[in-house]
Amino acid sequence: MIDLSTLYALIIGTLLVSAALTIWESFGRWRRVPLLIWAAGWTTLAIGCSIAVARTQVPGIYGWAASNLLIVTGYLLVLNGVAALDRRRYWRTSVLLVAALALGWGVEGMSAHLAFWQYGAGLPIMVASALTVSELVRNRSLRRLRTRPVAIALPAMHAAIYAVRVFVLPLLVSADGAGMVALASKITMYEGVLYSVAMPMTLIGLVREEAQRHLLAASRTDFLTGLTNRQGLFEAAARLLRDDRPATLLAFDLDHFKTINDAHGHAAGDAVLQSFADVMRELADPRATLARLGGEEFAALLPDTNVAAARALGEAIAARFAARTDHGAGVLLSATVSIGLAQSGVDGDDLDTLLSAADRALYVAKSLGRNRLVSASPLFNGAGIAAAPVRAAPRRLVA
Ligand code: GH3
Ligand code: MG
Ligand code: MG
Repeated sequence: MIDLSTLYALIIGTLLVSAALTIWESFGRWRRVPLLIWAAGWTTLAIGCSIAVARTQVPGIYGWAASNLLIVTGYLLVLNGVAALDRRRYWRTSVLLVAALALGWGVEGMSAHLAFWQYGAGLPIMVASALTVSELVRNRSLRRLRTRPVAIALPAMHAAIYAVRVFVLPLLVSADGAGMVALASKITMYEGVLYSVAMPMTLIGLVREEAQRHLLAASRTDFLTGLTNRQGLFEAAARLLRDDRPATLLAFDLDHFKTINDAHGHAAGDAVLQSFADVMRELADPRATLARLGGEEFAALLPDTNVAAARALGEAIAARFAARTDHGAGVLLSATVSIGLAQSGVDGDDLDTLLSAADRALYVAKSLGRNRLVSASPLFNGAGIAAAPVRAAPRRLVA
């Protein structure tokens, strides 16, 4: 049998190690704030537990009250760290809870400090743990992380243990006598040891996994436009074409883009690139993969889309883009785009061949005068001519 003070010593040790590891983890991380709040929480819990060990040596109820208040503050810090993952705060709730608890100690604790320690003091721990669970559940950015269910289960188990302590234990004690109290304390403390190891490690694991997901997403995203980058397009295409689903590819190249840069500066050029990406997003189906391949070259991979629908989308994008003069660059200017279209199964079976087929069509669109869409298969381009111009908009710079 392990006595309670051994369990306390274990908990204090693991909490301090957890605090140190959490601080270490926070160095150079983008999730610094939650990690530092958690480290403060583990430290506060360790101090609260240390005072709990010595509570009987302090005269009056001060040792009991201080220990309980610090332990509850520790749990509330853990809650605030979890909420900070989603930029939410519980500071006001926390202060109110601690103040109410202090009031409880002042009123109820004075006359019946043992009973208050055994039952009432567990209530705010239960509340803080339950709120931690609800924060982890509602945080959308954690939704698909593998660590998430564990991070939810641990405070849920903790809340359940304290719910039993607060609501069921008094009934058991009145039925079975005080022996239940000692048993309940041991169960609580044993679970406390497991929690003080598992929860800090799980929270560190959670932010690590989140950071990893973030990096992975960033590695597939074009920084300027927020579209998928070349790598993301190839990954999406591999998935799509592996399933043998019909797909159409549109390759876009902005017309005379170098002139826009030369006339209005690189920043205006960047704004036009962003504006073109916006037009793509506005018009394309959410299932489409929209990518910036580099420079002023873009692509749209359209699953389950036939040539007619792809052409309609391409021409709609070209028309809306050509009609825009305010690209958010501070100057008004008009720009156009040329488009090549390729169809899976007809023009190629993988993204490489589809891209080069679409590129050849794009080259034809450029040579025919730009601001138009051309299909790689001549079949789809009508009699003799490659395509009708999307809009007879001469490329003209408006002031
Ligand atoms: P064309 O109609 O034949 O496509 O002519 P173009 O001028 O668009 O083609 P070219 O390939 O000669 O020029 C592309 C220009 O795109 C050159 C480069 O300076 C510019 N560019 C590439 N990446 C960026 C970028 O990220 N931002 C800006 N502002 N310009 C870029
Ligand atoms: Mg180009
Ligand atoms: Mg170009």
